[in-house]
Amino acid sequence: MQAEAIFTGTELLLGQIINTNAAFLSQELAKAGISIFRQVVVGDNLERIKEAIQEAGKRADLIIVCGGLGPTEDDLTREALAGALGLPLEENPSAREHIIRFFSLRDRPMPPQNLKQALFPRGAIPLDNPLGTAPGIFLEHNGKLYACLPGPPSEFRVMLTEKLLPLLQQYSTSKEIIFSRVLKITGLGESAVEEKIQDLLKGTNPTLATLASPGEIHLRITAKAKDTEAALDLIKPLEKEIRQRLKEHIFGSDGDTLEGVVGNLLTLKGLTLAVAESCTGGLLAHRLTNIPGSSAYFHQGIVAYNNKVKLQLLGVTTEILASRGAVSEEVALAMARGVRGLAGTDIGIGITGIAGPGGGTPAKPVGLVYLAIDYQGTTQVRRELFQGLREEIKWRATQSALDMLWR
Ligand code: ATP
Ligand code: MG
Repeated sequence: MQAEAIFTGTELLLGQIINTNAAFLSQELAKAGISIFRQVVVGDNLERIKEAIQEAGKRADLIIVCGGLGPTEDDLTREALAGALGLPLEENPSAREHIIRFFSLRDRPMPPQNLKQALFPRGAIPLDNPLGTAPGIFLEHNGKLYACLPGPPSEFRVMLTEKLLPLLQQYSTSKEIIFSRVLKITGLGESAVEEKIQDLLKGTNPTLATLASPGEIHLRITAKAKDTEAALDLIKPLEKEIRQRLKEHIFGSDGDTLEGVVGNLLTLKGLTLAVAESCTGGLLAHRLTNIPGSSAYFHQGIVAYNNKVKLQLLGVTTEILASRGAVSEEVALAMARGVRGLAGTDIGIGITGIAGPGGGTPAKPVGLVYLAIDYQGTTQVRRELFQGLREEIKWRATQSALDMLWR
């Protein structure tokens, strides 16, 4: 089955929002063994959406339209689909009921224009939306399949994976699926990773690809096979080889995050943690507490941005600040010890650095970060020099702190 996708929304076209639905769609279609040949972005304009649907309908077997299913004036997808295929719009009684129920369950008055969302091109079936009022649209017409899904990413994702893809299975003639396994690496740069696996990057089934993001490298192994089990059989030998070569750097796979892996480790060992952050401004605490259940190990975070806070709360001394400066090994260490003592935890982390763009000197350039860990009285410090803009430096610093915790 060959698919094309049309993403509607003037804000997408103008670059005001990122087309994250496009990336998600492509990944999910690949897993389902459906090839995607084109993606188009069209503004909220009836004629142009209509035209895009007609053009895609000439080429593809499956045409997916994203967004524009809401109740407002600029939501034009239902009209465009009906217009493109020359079908009348008719009210669907069960969709109407769904919308009325959505509002009454929430004790909210229903704006009359919401009933527009119960209109469907003749012959289409509604796809239930568990998260919102806009049902999706599924239509078989002249041997082609048309599907319209709501634009808000949370709605788009569940409707694609839980409604549309299961429905498409009965139409699929493909005998093969595409399956990927991602191995996640920290503490090693992209070229260092590639050097170690250069010879493995040339394979065809499975293929191996590297994806770099700040402070983390992902290795994606992708196989084509008749089902997931057969794909895993192809993937496993390569995965084993990669794990042997990079073992001390692989922290997880697929949906794992470094903060999640660290959380599991702390839970498993029954250890508790407190952090004192200067240049990262609470980002480490934020990442750690994004993990459900983190209250079991995360006790306290202090954003010690001003030196006064470092002095008063964390026991950093004026002598150290005067002789070594706020961005120094000694201050990072004192912060780690100070916050651990204050919180009474097993582990304390201290981070101090220069996130930029200003504030750097030749001796202490932008991107210089000291990270310290105090683990039950045993301490360790890291000096890092990161490249990038302010937010990237902050992110990389938290990544390095998590890497210290993981090791
Ligand atoms: P609504 O009922 O919210 O109007 P809709 O189906 O009409 O839903 P749109 O109006 O096109 O969808 O988009 C709603 C919001 O969803 C947009 O403002 C945007 O924030 C987000 N969105 C839409 N399309 C995408 C996309 N392709 N990628 C990421 N976000 C998107
Ligand atoms: Mg809308």
